[in-house]
Amino acid sequence: NTDVRESMYLVSEFAKKYFSDVLVNSEEGKAIGLSYFKERGFTNETIKKFALGYSPETWDAFTKEALGKGYKMEFLESTGLTIAREDRPFDRFKGRVMFPIQSMSGRVLGFGGRILTNDKKAAKYLNSPESEIYHKSKVLYGIYQAKQSIAKLNNCFLVEGYTDVIQFNQAGIENVVASSGTALTPDQIRLINRLTRNITVLFDGDAAGLRASIRGIDLILEEGMNVRVCAFPDGEDPDSFARKTSYEDLVAYLENNAKDFIQFKASLLMNEAKNDPIKKADLIRDMVASISKIPDRIQREIYIQECSRIMDISEQVLTSTLAQLVQKDI
Ligand code: ATP
Ligand code: MN
Ligand code: MN
Ligand code: MN
Repeated sequence: NTDVRESMYLVSEFAKKYFSDVLVNSEEGKAIGLSYFKERGFTNETIKKFALGYSPETWDAFTKEALGKGYKMEFLESTGLTIAREDRPFDRFKGRVMFPIQSMSGRVLGFGGRILTNDKKAAKYLNSPESEIYHKSKVLYGIYQAKQSIAKLNNCFLVEGYTDVIQFNQAGIENVVASSGTALTPDQIRLINRLTRNITVLFDGDAAGLRASIRGIDLILEEGMNVRVCAFPDGEDPDSFARKTSYEDLVAYLENNAKDFIQFKASLLMNEAKNDPIKKADLIRDMVASISKIPDRIQREIYIQECSRIMDISEQVLTSTLAQLVQKDI
């Protein structure tokens, strides 16, 4: 229903303005939220560009302010900004720093909120719930700020988190978006596909990041797009790495370490597989399975040649293995 959605957009826009106003103008916001962002190295310009904010620690400060301005409880609840309680509704994001999640055209769809403590029991990030306007599988954090740069440079960096997007922007690299905690989805890839056919996956240098990038590769190939992967040193994510690296070194690192998916898989598993025929066979089958996802026959052929070269196995064997996986036009 268009009217309902419009009302939800309006209250979300109000919330964005409220949280960013609290961040820079209130004593609590400055002492807690702003100093947190400063500690992470974010400049005022960056804070403004991403409309970062702070939600006061109080039970319902935001909800009261919104109701006072005439926004309806119905829409505060349906956007998830307020959590209903018969007696005392309260602010979902109280005491968190706020990252508005915007659509390609800049509409506020939802929020991510981060706790400031290192309390292991509380969820580090809390997100808006699914709603008529927020479908987490269809949004990419940072797409609004990134779209021009993605189109111009004809490449999109894909990272995991909010702060990775923000730190890259501050470092001078703007063509970057985040899947923000959800496993990458076909809808998210199609959003990028409207701007470029080239994606470079930059996941965290940990086991979870590695798993996520391997899963992402096949999905991107299935959309007929080109995928490259760049790993980060153990324990680093794009945010932490960019923060201690100059722009020139960062660009050089990305250029020197981005690999196509064949090289990437080879670099992960080749050491293990080199002297073990069974593991080597598994690795080759895994590569061919990825190649089989590519819709274009000529591209498949090119990757078969590369796989043959890198793995030192005949193209004929690879092609017949591929044929078993691809029923289409081979
Ligand atoms: P930070 O640098 O602020 O500690 P991060 O972005 O490096 O956070 P990761 O733990 O690498 O955080 O997670 C990547 C992304 O996954 C986050 O940016 C966030 O979008 C999402 N995420 C992480 N933890 C949670 C959680 N507990 N609940 C929901 N989403 C989460
Ligand atoms: Mn991680
Ligand atoms: Mn991370
Ligand atoms: Mn991080």
